[in-house]
Amino acid sequence: MLSPRVRNIKPSPTLAMDAKAKGMKAQGIDVVNFGVGEPDFDTPDNIKNAAIKAINDGFTKYTPVGGIDPLKDAILAKLKTDNGLTYERDQIVVSCGAKHTLYNIAQALYGPGDEVIIPAPYWVSYPDQVLLNDATPVIVQTREEDHFMLKPEALAAAITPKTKAIILNSPSNPTGFAYDRAALAAIAALAVKHDFYIVSDEIYEKLVYDGVQHVSIASVSPEAQERTIVVNGLSKSHAMTGWRIGYAAGPKDIIKAMTNIQSQSTSNPTSIAQKAAVEALTGPQDFVGVMRAEFDKRRTYLVDALNAIPGITCTKPNGAFYAFPKVSALYGKKAGDRVIKGSLDLALYLLEEANVALVHGEAFGNDNYIRLSYATSMENLRKGVERIAAAVAQLS
Ligand SMILES: *Cc1c(COP(=O)(O)O)cnc(C)c1O
Repeated sequence: MLSPRVRNIKPSPTLAMDAKAKGMKAQGIDVVNFGVGEPDFDTPDNIKNAAIKAINDGFTKYTPVGGIDPLKDAILAKLKTDNGLTYERDQIVVSCGAKHTLYNIAQALYGPGDEVIIPAPYWVSYPDQVLLNDATPVIVQTREEDHFMLKPEALAAAITPKTKAIILNSPSNPTGFAYDRAALAAIAALAVKHDFYIVSDEIYEKLVYDGVQHVSIASVSPEAQERTIVVNGLSKSHAMTGWRIGYAAGPKDIIKAMTNIQSQSTSNPTSIAQKAAVEALTGPQDFVGVMRAEFDKRRTYLVDALNAIPGITCTKPNGAFYAFPKVSALYGKKAGDRVIKGSLDLALYLLEEANVALVHGEAFGNDNYIRLSYATSMENLRKGVERIAAAVAQLS
């Protein structure tokens, strides 16, 4: 008999959709994949070469559990330069990807009786990581007209004496919107007043558009920094998803607890990947700008093309690499004897009939939307949008 803990959770629905699309591809079906959550760029050569050098130098043994000092120092410098945040080395822990970082935070902070506020739409792993630690996710809806930023009134209504933390993600996966400073300051003020932690997932920090400046909620006030655990990593900024490097910066006691948890579970992140991460953070940064500019172009194309499809509307997002269009106007429509009752039905219809893979909004806590990743070529975007338009036109 499995533990009660695992009976509560489900596999990541984004990875499940991706697996289904890949399965069809393996059968020779030409699937356009808008489901992916990773950059379609190769890791830059200078970073690869740093890893190759690490191997050739024999840097292939255990390292300190929470990461090597040169990497912690590179992270400290990055937080100072990019975010205006000052930390000490013992306030940093490096883990096997930001997802692992978030999991360690969940283990260190949440327990039975705790409530953790999660604004929806949310990244799929947040609620399940809370459940895995026997705490209760408290989902609070946000609105497209607010660019999916959590309003202080909505947050205030969800706070109870059991509130342990809030998990924020800016820029957001799946909505593609970044929070502005005022919205973050209002949330931080409530966290200070009601004494709960802020977990701030900033993995898409480098991907912002239209002149938007990324703001870390930890930087809005010293009181905010004291109760924030900043989460970041290299997967999205430097196209390093497979290398598995993420990190946290936060209060010493929490970082120490996370390091202890890691010492009893994974030990250190891969030695070679750590060397690559030092190069990613301290080497030339041109790549980030090139990738960002390409995503920006695709974003404009995709959002305009989606808005041209009757029944689909999409407010132009300003971050990450996702479009999150509203599709609920299509619900109730039919194709043959197939009725589109919600976002999963629509996603399955588009996958099976149009061979376009994307993720149903229900997986992110809002059934009125679907998520399309534009981390794919312009050619694929054109082909995929044409297919979606044709398939939607078949609905009546
Ligand atoms: C991709 C992603 C992560 C995880 O990144 P890894 O470092 O590869 O584990 C975390 N949060 C969000 C919102 C993401 O989209």
